[in-house]
Amino acid sequence: MTKDQSLKERKEELIANYKRNGYFKSEEIIRAFRVVPREEFIGPNPKRLAYMDRPLPIYSNQTISAPHMVAMMVSKEVLDLKIGDICLEVGGGSGYHAAVVAEIVAPTGSDKSKWGHVYTIERIEKLVNFAKENLEKTKYSDRVTVIHADGTIGLPEKAPFDKITVAAAAPEIPPPLIEQLKPGGRLVIPVGGKNYFQELKIVFKLEDGSIKSKTQCGVAFVPLIGKYGY
Ligand code: SAM
Repeated sequence: MTKDQSLKERKEELIANYKRNGYFKSEEIIRAFRVVPREEFIGPNPKRLAYMDRPLPIYSNQTISAPHMVAMMVSKEVLDLKIGDICLEVGGGSGYHAAVVAEIVAPTGSDKSKWGHVYTIERIEKLVNFAKENLEKTKYSDRVTVIHADGTIGLPEKAPFDKITVAAAAPEIPPPLIEQLKPGGRLVIPVGGKNYFQELKIVFKLEDGSIKSKTQCGVAFVPLIGKYGY
């Protein structure tokens, strides 16, 4: 990455890297990354940092996750998102991750009658407003609803969900999130210590309602604060 590269060139370089190292295996996900402008979600940071592969500080001591983490969490192997999926995100932050999920489950320009929807919960009011503004200006507010609440209790009034993604680290998987998953649905969540590395867990709710889970990899997230968090 050089100083003179345009944002578009920087984004394409990142996409090419992700294709090479296996983060990007599906065209829908590559398309979503191309379409959603991360530079509109990084708040006070200079736009030229938008396509560096690292988390960036936003407000209230929180971060927008690194692009590779979003790429991995939305991948076929992890969430297996499909057009029409009704999704819940816990930890809305800047709204970027929610917009990428929305671009996969409700692609821009596609038949709106087939669109899915993303509900994203954020506990810090300043970030709720930040995410709403970012989603409004990038035209995702028709596919993403931002809610100010404790996401560890889920969103019973909109449940059940096809997919749930949690962007903060929990001591254990919050039981309401498992309850609010549809049979056949998936939940991805970092589980582990508050201030150190955690494991990214994928939880599968099978058609008979039974639960299986597996560990995808090691990760480092900010803590999930709330009734079923820290
Ligand atoms: N997905 C975000 C993005 O795309 O910018 C980044 C999320 S940031 C790594 C984690 C977020 O989880 C923080 O904004 C934090 O305030 C939020 N959070 C922590 N505990 C929460 C809870 N119980 N309910 C909702 N949000 C929570």
